[in-house]
Amino acid sequence: MEAKKLILTGDRPTGNLHLGHYVGVLKSRVEQQHTHNQYILVADVQALTDYYEMPQLVVENSLEVVKDYLAVGIDPQISTILIQSQIPAIAELTIYYMNLVSVSRLERNPTVKNEILQKGLGKTLPVGFLNYPVSQAADITAFGGELVSGGEDQIPMIEQTNEIVRKFNRIYNTNCLKEASIHLSKVPRLVGIDGKAKASKSMNNAIFLSDPPEVIREKVFAMFTDPDHIKVSDPGKVDGNVVFTYLDAFCDDPDEVNSLKSQYLKGGLGDTTLKSYLNDILQKMLQPIREKRRLLTREYILDVCYDGTSRARVVSGGILNNVRNAIGINFFDKIEKHS
Ligand code: ATP
Ligand code: MG
Repeated sequence: MEAKKLILTGDRPTGNLHLGHYVGVLKSRVEQQHTHNQYILVADVQALTDYYEMPQLVVENSLEVVKDYLAVGIDPQISTILIQSQIPAIAELTIYYMNLVSVSRLERNPTVKNEILQKGLGKTLPVGFLNYPVSQAADITAFGGELVSGGEDQIPMIEQTNEIVRKFNRIYNTNCLKEASIHLSKVPRLVGIDGKAKASKSMNNAIFLSDPPEVIREKVFAMFTDPDHIKVSDPGKVDGNVVFTYLDAFCDDPDEVNSLKSQYLKGGLGDTTLKSYLNDILQKMLQPIREKRRLLTREYILDVCYDGTSRARVVSGGILNNVRNAIGINFFDKIEKHS
């Protein structure tokens, strides 16, 4: 039997997970844990690049994110759930890789460029933030990741990782690092409820898996639709209408969605009716997840993180050793051998 491919995926614990994660990455993780050797990384070190003044928040968010994993059906016995800061090999690999990347290359990374603009970092841009794609290359290679599953924003990260891998192998005349390919999710970018390009934790424009029913309802009713659709009888726009985008992503009856779309285009379907329909779908979908979440204790979550991280440490330790050998800086080994 062919060995299962190693797939790496993960999230920044900058807040709880949302519907963008659910259709974007979580549903695929539940499926691919049976077909792949799956590592799920809670990128707390990467979250610190934004929240370095609020480490406690990052710790709390990490536990909440793991709760979200388990609540949607990720099985910690099958998937390896790990905490990035507890894997020393990642930090060390990052340092070696930093020599292989120029500042201007990092500044050209489209995802980073966009985030710097969004956050208004300008001249105050921390080195750590600019460097996070390098640390992501360490995350991927530390476990020998062959596939990386994620949304659209991850494509430049994989490209950057593979450039580092090729340069490392060339300079140190080795093939100990492997290139990775992206495993793009079915909905690689769910828009925010405000119609902005991407639902995101940091932009607070998302419906979270942990949101209580009344908050979900409030957010659905605040969704951006068609500002020119004033009276129920007015013809409305479907393109760019967030409610339809969410129906496409979450309603499992595409014929029904198509019929709503044609009614809306013609006129005669009000925003309130449409939003109530979406609200019912989301409430039904999120209720069992919220319930499962509620039953998970902090102790159990900590155990899950500890077990996964311990397994991951062993794997990454082996790879780090190969990397040190390739560079030729395992010199204490040589001293021991020659003494
Ligand atoms: P932050 O705003 O802190 O960056 P985020 O909401 O972008 O948070 P991440 O932790 O950066 O979430 O992303 C984790 C994974 O989820 C990545 O693979 C990313 O591509 C995917 N993802 C995030 N937001 C969406 C979205 N709106 N639609 C689809 N996939 C998403
Ligand atoms: Mg992000």
